[in-house]
Amino acid sequence: MSEYKQNGTGDSSQTLPNMAHFWMPFTANKQFKTNPRLLVSAQGMYYTDIEGNKVLDATAGLWCCNAGHGRQEISQAVSQQISQMDYAPSFQMGHPLAFELAHKLSQLSPDGLDKVFFTNSGSESVDTALKMALCYHRANGQATRTRFIGRELGYHGVGFGGISVGGISNNRKTFSQQLLQGVDHLPHTLDIANNAFSHGLPPHGLDKAEVLEQLITLHGAENIAAVIVEPMSGSAGVILPPDGYLTRLREITQKHGILLIFDEVITGFGRVGAAFASERWQVTPDMITTAKAINNGAIPMGAVFVSNTIHDTCMHGPDELIEFFHGYTYSGHPVAAASALATLSIYEDEQLFERAKGLESYFEQAVHSLKGLPNVIDIRNTGLVAGIQLAPSDKGVGKRGYDIFDHCFRHGALVRATADIIALSPPLIVEKSQIDDMVNHITDAINAVG
Ligand code: PMP
Repeated sequence: MSEYKQNGTGDSSQTLPNMAHFWMPFTANKQFKTNPRLLVSAQGMYYTDIEGNKVLDATAGLWCCNAGHGRQEISQAVSQQISQMDYAPSFQMGHPLAFELAHKLSQLSPDGLDKVFFTNSGSESVDTALKMALCYHRANGQATRTRFIGRELGYHGVGFGGISVGGISNNRKTFSQQLLQGVDHLPHTLDIANNAFSHGLPPHGLDKAEVLEQLITLHGAENIAAVIVEPMSGSAGVILPPDGYLTRLREITQKHGILLIFDEVITGFGRVGAAFASERWQVTPDMITTAKAINNGAIPMGAVFVSNTIHDTCMHGPDELIEFFHGYTYSGHPVAAASALATLSIYEDEQLFERAKGLESYFEQAVHSLKGLPNVIDIRNTGLVAGIQLAPSDKGVGKRGYDIFDHCFRHGALVRATADIIALSPPLIVEKSQIDDMVNHITDAINAVG
C-alpha cells in the first residue's frame, strides 16, 4: 500500500483494525479490504490517513465539511451540549436549541420557506418532503394528487421514496418491483454534444423542461403531487441546469398547482456560491431538502424547509390531533442542533458563502485548464464545485475514474469519482494554492492512468 506514498512516513502510525465485520455502504467491499483507504484525523483542508500521510480534501468529505475540518467551535458546542443534555424526546416534547436552529435556518432559507422539519440525513429529508407533499394535497382537498415526477440521473438518497423518484439505475434495479407507484422521470440535462466545456449554466437544453407539460397532459395535473429535482445534480457527476430550466420548471408547476421540491442536500450551504441554489438561480421552490453541510457533517442531521402555505394547510387538515404523522427519534437532536448552530455561526462570521462566490472564477479557470488532457471530454463548474468527465476506458465504465481517484489518494489528494467523472467540491475555506494543488494532482493522475 505504501509504494506510492510521497508525503508521509510510509509506516503505519496505527495498526489496521479488524476489517471483517463492517459492511461498508456504496463500496466494493472485497476490493476495499485488500486495498483499504483509512482516514484517522482531519484538520483544515487536510485529512491524515492511517499511515500518517496528509491528504488534501478536495471533496469536503462527501460534500459535507464546508467550513473545513477540526473546527473547535463545533467540537466545543457538541461537548458542551452532551454535558448539559445529551438527548430529549422529540415527540410531544421540545428543547430550545431546535427552535433556535429552525429560526436561524429560516433566516437563511429563501423568503417564504420559513418552516423547518428536522431529519437525520438527506434520504430522510427527501422521504419527508414527499410525504409532506401528499399530506398537503390531502389536507387541501386534492387527495388524488399522488404522483411524483423526478428526473433521470437524479440522486435523492436511498429510501424507497428517494430511489423511486431518483434516476440512477444502479440504485433502483435490485428493488424495481418495490418502487413507489406512479412516478415518472424528466429527461436529464447532460448534453456533452452541445454543452461541453460550458462555464456555469450550459446554454442548451431548456426545451427539456417542456417534457413536464407532456407528462401533465398524460396524467392530468389533478393526479400529480410534486416534481423533485436537484437544482444541480451532484452525485451523477455535477450536471448543471441549462440556463432558464429551473425557472421554467417553476412556471409550469405553479400553473398546475404541483409542488416543486429542490433537493439541495449537496448545493445547500454555500456550495454554489450562495446559501442555496435557489438563491443563486433565483427560483423559489415549495420545499428544499438539506443535510450534509447543515452542520459541517459533524453529526447526522438533515432538514426540510417548507413554505408557510404547506405547513399551514397541513395544520388544518382532516387529522385533528396531529397534523403530519411523521417524525424521527432524533429529529432536531440537541447535540446535532448545537453543532449546526456553531456551524452556521462560522459560515456567517467567516462569510464563507461569499468566499465561495469570490473564488469561483479562479476555480473555474483552474479546472478548465484540464481541457486538452487525454480523454477529458467535458468540464462543468459553478461556485466551488466542478465535474471533470473522462471517456470510459476499454476496460469498462468507471475504471478510468476509479484509477484516477485511487492515484490521487495514493499521492495525497481526495477527489470523488462517479463512474468516469471526477468531482471536486473543496471546503469553502480553500486557498488558491490548494486549488492549484488539486488540479496538479488530477493532471498527474490523468497522465499516469492514461
Ligand atoms: N439527496 C442528494 C441530492 C444527495 O446528494 C444525497 C447524498 N449524496 C442524498 C439526497 C442522500 O443523503 P444521505 O446520504 O445523507 O441520506
